Formats: sequence, structure tokens, C-alpha cells
Amino acid sequence: MACQTNVRHILGISGGKDSAALAVLLHQEIPQMEYFFCDTHKELPETYEFLERIQARLGIKIHYLSANQGFDHWLALYGGYLPSPQSRWCTRQMKIKPLEAFVGDDEAISYVAIRADENRDGYISTKPNIKPVYPFRDRGLVKADIVRLLEDSGIGYPDYYRWRSRSGCYFCFFQRKYEWVKLAEEHPDLFAKAVAYEQEHADGRTYTWTQGET
Ligand code: SF4
Repeated sequence: MACQTNVRHILGISGGKDSAALAVLLHQEIPQMEYFFCDTHKELPETYEFLERIQARLGIKIHYLSANQGFDHWLALYGGYLPSPQSRWCTRQMKIKPLEAFVGDDEAISYVAIRADENRDGYISTKPNIKPVYPFRDRGLVKADIVRLLEDSGIGYPDYYRWRSRSGCYFCFFQRKYEWVKLAEEHPDLFAKAVAYEQEHADGRTYTWTQGET
């Protein structure tokens, strides 16, 4: 892949398997790549451990981008109103804005880890100076290729894959019911904190992570 020197090359590491595999694929091909992780401060401990493993195995540095102290700062600004699929302020404030601040007005190519066997858009900035590219799609790489890349590199899977399929905040409202159950089993302290987020409002209001259910 040709690299222009005045253009930045950035790759967002999510804590999941696909972006880790993309780093494996590209870290030698594009040595000037800048890796970043948008830290909500509410990730699972397994995720932070996985990030350390990626850096150690590949010899790369991941920049931790933290949006104003992460989730709690924004929750206070939104008056305790928990994010939801309909009001997804968390992604905008904690994932996309920190990326845009990291890039500023520089021209950048953003390498997005969407596989050839996936049908989704991913969270990408719409700023005109940040151009998304999709190396997995372009090269026809599917899930089996991602597994092979991670195994061959010695990085493997994040440990939370034993019980949960997605990276992200431990209280993510996209979790399925069995993932909430497993959270309570694996990390009872974090489950208790997720419960507290529903209940601890000075004026007695209650918000829930799942619509209509505590
Ligand atoms: S993991 Fe879930 S709760 Fe956390 S920022 Fe992403 S969508 Fe929001």
C-alpha cells in the first residue's frame, strides 16, 4: 500500500478481536501507523489486559484517548440520563469526538476493521479530512482469517470471549440477557455498579439500561 508522508495513518483499537487482527495485518506494512483506543473508563479488566498484550506482542504503542474523564463526566452533563440505542450519546461523545480531536485538521486515513463477511458501517467520523478505508473488505478477509492472524501472532482472543462476544463498556445496553447474567457471575462488583447507575439519582428518578426492565 502506498503511503503519502503528509497524511496520517490511524487505526482505532476497540478491545475486540477484529481491530486487533487489523493491527497484526498492518503493523509492518505501515510502520508509521498511529494506534488509538477511546477509553470510556468503563471497559472490562480483560479489555485493558488485551490492549497490553497487543502492544507487547506487536511492539506498538496505543494512544489512550480519554474524553473528559470518560463516561461519568458525560453522564453528569446529560443529567444522569443513561444512553440507549435511541439516544446513543456515548458513542458520539466518547468514541467519535476523541478521534476527531486526536486528528484535528490533519489529513488522515482511518483503517476500519470491518470484515468482508460483515454487513455494517462501523463508527466512523464524517469529517472530510478523515478518510475511512477497509483493508479486510478490500482483501476479502473473513472471520477465519481474523482468527488465523490472531493465533499466528500469539495474541489470541481477549479473555472475555469466554463469556461475552463484544468489547465495550461493562454495562453496554446492547448486551443480551445472558451477557448480563454472565457479568454478574464473572464480575459481581461491576454488575453492582451497573445496578447503581440505574438507581443513584439525587431526585429519586430511575433510568434503566434496558427499556422497561431493571
Ligand atoms: S460500549 Fe455500549 S455503552 Fe459503551 S460507548 Fe459503546 S455503545 Fe455506549
